[in-house]
Amino acid sequence: MPRIQRFGKKTKKTAHVAVNKTNKTLESNLDVSVGDDEQNEISIEQNCSSKEYNPKGRRIVEIGYLFEQLIQINSHTSLFDCRMEYLIIIKEKKAGLNSTFELLCKMCGEKFTLETVRKDDNKMDINQEVVAGIMSTGAGYAQITTVLAYADIPPISLRLYELTHDQVCQWWEQTAKHCMIEAGKEEVEYAKRIGNVTSDGVPMIAVIADACWSKRSYGTNYNASSGAAAIVGQHSKKVLYSGVKNKYCLTCSRSASKRKEPPEHACCKNFSGPSTAMEAAIITEGFKSSLADHGLIYSHLIADGDASTYACIRNARPYENLTVAKVECKNHLLRNYCKALLALSTNTFYHIKGRKLLKEKYLKLRWGVDSSLKYWSGRDIPFTEKLTNIKMDIQNGHYHIFGDHSNCKPYFCKKKQ
Ligand SMILES: [Zn+2]
Ligand SMILES: [Zn+2]
Ligand SMILES: [Zn+2]
Repeated sequence: MPRIQRFGKKTKKTAHVAVNKTNKTLESNLDVSVGDDEQNEISIEQNCSSKEYNPKGRRIVEIGYLFEQLIQINSHTSLFDCRMEYLIIIKEKKAGLNSTFELLCKMCGEKFTLETVRKDDNKMDINQEVVAGIMSTGAGYAQITTVLAYADIPPISLRLYELTHDQVCQWWEQTAKHCMIEAGKEEVEYAKRIGNVTSDGVPMIAVIADACWSKRSYGTNYNASSGAAAIVGQHSKKVLYSGVKNKYCLTCSRSASKRKEPPEHACCKNFSGPSTAMEAAIITEGFKSSLADHGLIYSHLIADGDASTYACIRNARPYENLTVAKVECKNHLLRNYCKALLALSTNTFYHIKGRKLLKEKYLKLRWGVDSSLKYWSGRDIPFTEKLTNIKMDIQNGHYHIFGDHSNCKPYFCKKKQ
C-alpha cells in the first residue's frame, strides 16, 4: 500500500510526474521516491509487486455491467487526481468464459476487480448458458471450441465443459419432470371438466405416443444402440412421459473387451433386447406409471401403424378394469385411406367411368376427413364421442363429395346450412 508522507500545494503536478516514473518502476518493482528536489512536497512509496498484464484475444462481456464497474472504478477518490488512464490490468482470473480482471491505479495504488459478467445466484452463469446453448443445438465440446477459436475467445477446458454439461443435464431433467407433472395436472383438470372419468372418478385421457432412434433403419436395418420415446397428452399437446433406452455403454464395453470388471461409473446401459422393442418398452412403462405419476388413465393410444407397441401395452394390462384402445394417428389414417381409394381407382373390376371419377375426387375425400378431424379435435367432449363423430363423417364423406347431402351435418356441409 502506498504511504503518503507529506502533501502540499504542488501535489497534482508532482503526482502526474510520478505516473510517468512509476510506469517504469512498476515493472522493476522498485520503491519510488518522487520530489526529492521539490523539497519533500510529496513522497510516494509504491511497493507494487504486480506487473502489467496484457490480455490477448476477446472476451464475452455483459456490456452494461462492465460500464457500471468502470464508472465506479473511475470515481474512486484519493488524495491524488486519479484518472482512468492510470489504470492498468495486472491479473486475469479465468473460469471458462468468465473472466475477473484485477486493475491497479498507478497513481494511488488502489486495486480493483472488474468482472466480465455479473454473478447472480438465480441465473445461469456464462459457462452454463453457453454449454446449454451448444447442447440445445445438438453439438458438443469440439464444436464449442471451434466457434470460440474462430472468435478469438480463450476456450473452456474439457473438464469444466463436462462438469457444466452434467449440471445442465440435471437441471433439464428436473425441469422436464416438473413440466410433465404440470402437464398431467392440466390433463386431469380437462378430463374432469368434460366428464371423462371412470365410474370410480379416475380421469381418463387419450395420449399420443411415438419413438425415435439414434440411427435410421431405412426400413430394414433396425439395430440402433439408443432409442427414445414420449407420451403426449392429446388435449394439452404436452409431454406426460419420456424415456430413453440404451443398449451400449462405453465403459462397460471397454471393460468387457479386457475381460475385467467395469469400474464404478454412471452406467447408461438399461436395455438388452432388440432395438425394435425399445419403443414398446418405454411406452408400456409410461402407461404403467400413469396412475402413480399423474393419477390418470390413458384410455386411448393414438399412434402410428406399429402394432407391437399396442400389443405390449395390452399384454401388460396397466389398468385393472380397462383395456386401452388403439387409434390410428391422422397421418397413417389419411395415408391408408388414400392408398385404398387409389387402389380402387385402378381396379379394373369397376367401370372405367367410376374409376376416373374417383381419381378426380379422391383428394377431396381426403380433405373431407381432414376437416372433420380438425373440427372434432378442438371440441370439449370425451374422446370416444369424438371418435364416433369422426367415424360418421368419414362414412358420409363420399356421399357428400358425390352429391348426396341427405346425411351431411351442418358443420360439414354448406349445402346443408
Ligand atoms: Zn487511484
Ligand atoms: Zn456401463
Ligand atoms: Zn354435404
